[in-house]
Amino acid sequence: MKKKYYYVIFYSEALISALNKNHVRYEVIGDGTIVPKMIRFYVYEGHPIIHIIPDYSEKEPIITNVFSEKELTNADYLTLYPIKPVIDITNVQEAFDFSCKRISFLGDIRYRHLTQKSCLCISPFKGNEKTYFFTESTGRHILFVRKDIQNVLLENDIKGVMFLPVYKNSRNKTLTDSGFLQVLSQNILYSDSIVIEEPERITECPICHKKQIVDAQGYQLKLFSEKILANQDFYMTEPIFGQGIPSSLFIVSQKLYRLLKDQHFDKNVKFSPISIINHQSGDGSMIDNQS
Ligand SMILES: [Zn+2]
Repeated sequence: MKKKYYYVIFYSEALISALNKNHVRYEVIGDGTIVPKMIRFYVYEGHPIIHIIPDYSEKEPIITNVFSEKELTNADYLTLYPIKPVIDITNVQEAFDFSCKRISFLGDIRYRHLTQKSCLCISPFKGNEKTYFFTESTGRHILFVRKDIQNVLLENDIKGVMFLPVYKNSRNKTLTDSGFLQVLSQNILYSDSIVIEEPERITECPICHKKQIVDAQGYQLKLFSEKILANQDFYMTEPIFGQGIPSSLFIVSQKLYRLLKDQHFDKNVKFSPISIINHQSGDGSMIDNQS
């Protein structure tokens, strides 16, 4: 695993010269009139430029974990994140229950959690036909797939996936098939399944006292081995991840990961290996599946 540091920094000749000197490839974006002129580049962990950047900008980089093909194919389980494009849900108010009210900084009413209670309706959407996984505008609460996937998963005996119909909103309000399905799992991993090592990342709802994990940049999921049921290929965590209204993480087995790769269903999906920790060992020793 390598950490990738992604920067977008205000243009300066001095920074350009430092980047050239350190052999960093960059791109200049914006014309400096309406859109500010910026320099965009990335480097990997350990690159000398990382220590020089604070001289030019106080802006923190976006840090992501980049895994090798070998690390991905050696992992027993991986998280699956749909990236984009996004599908608009048109019946949010009807489809979700909102709970644990709070008043925002701006004085309006917000909620801390949402629970889905009925099927979703979406705006007419086609998307790129070679893309099979989608999410909605907040990025991670809902996992949509193109309908074609359902039979492939059934034929390959993939266990633990549940599908919900997704309807398309039409002008006359009749519900028609959208060509997409919502994916859920009956295998829910609760917060006691998740290895939590850095307590500063944990917040607690002041009303219902549910834990929330504000995953920092480059967060990697760690699970206790005994909480993972054998022979299941798809799991989701309780919705406890992220800032604002927390969401679930979706987890696939190596078998499902390979199937998605082989069938070219993996466009616009990011996978990250999960560390599986043996709880019983008592010494916190890891069954490290990434080496
Ligand atoms: Zn709450």
